[in-house]
Amino acid sequence: MKIAVISDIHGNLEALNAVLSKIDALNAYMIYCLGDIVGYGPNPNECVELIRSRNIPTIAGNHDKAVTGELSIESFSQVARVGVLWTQSVITAENKKFLNDLPYSIQEHNILFVHSSPDYPEEFRYLLSPEDARESFDYFSNPLTFVGHTHRPVVFCEDNRTIEISLDKKFIVNVGSVGQPRDGNWKACFVLFDTEQYKLEYIRVEYDVEVVRKKIETIGLPQKLADRLLVGM
Ligand code: ZN
Repeated sequence: MKIAVISDIHGNLEALNAVLSKIDALNAYMIYCLGDIVGYGPNPNECVELIRSRNIPTIAGNHDKAVTGELSIESFSQVARVGVLWTQSVITAENKKFLNDLPYSIQEHNILFVHSSPDYPEEFRYLLSPEDARESFDYFSNPLTFVGHTHRPVVFCEDNRTIEISLDKKFIVNVGSVGQPRDGNWKACFVLFDTEQYKLEYIRVEYDVEVVRKKIETIGLPQKLADRLLVGM
């Protein structure tokens, strides 16, 4: 059974539509979303409504919780703050309630789904290196945890060496970002995972970046948010 795991959409409707079309074409049995549906991008309501309309199980991201006011934006970068404040000014009450009700983790198919890290997911730690990930392995008993948050696709294994996903070791898989990749590749990123064969595939999808850039500029959001989409940074 194939499942698709998406994360960090950040109000980028064009990227989300492209990814969902690709997932539909691949006949995935289910889609999971690891959070940050909103923040930075120009279409927060449309993205939340698309996720809601398709009943996609979704985890709370730090930007989702910042927009609802549950998380302080004190530690956010300048452009992230501007994005949160603008999103707060346009998000509908119904969509805000949906974000407010999102859980910090889901366990299904013997997999843990979180936004940031298996240890204290509500603290939104960044797992950027094997060292960052090391202590996280003590906090889940499943063989596999899917994370997002850093916008960088990467697989961490508890023994720091293995690259093939197997049932006898634990793995943390960062699925990358749909709406704002930061690995130097502008294409939207997601993971397709076969829960029986234990096969993991990263899939990149092209979308119309220019349309999103123009929307960001028209709204008057920081130029950096438009330009970074072109280079995936
Ligand atoms: Zn994010």
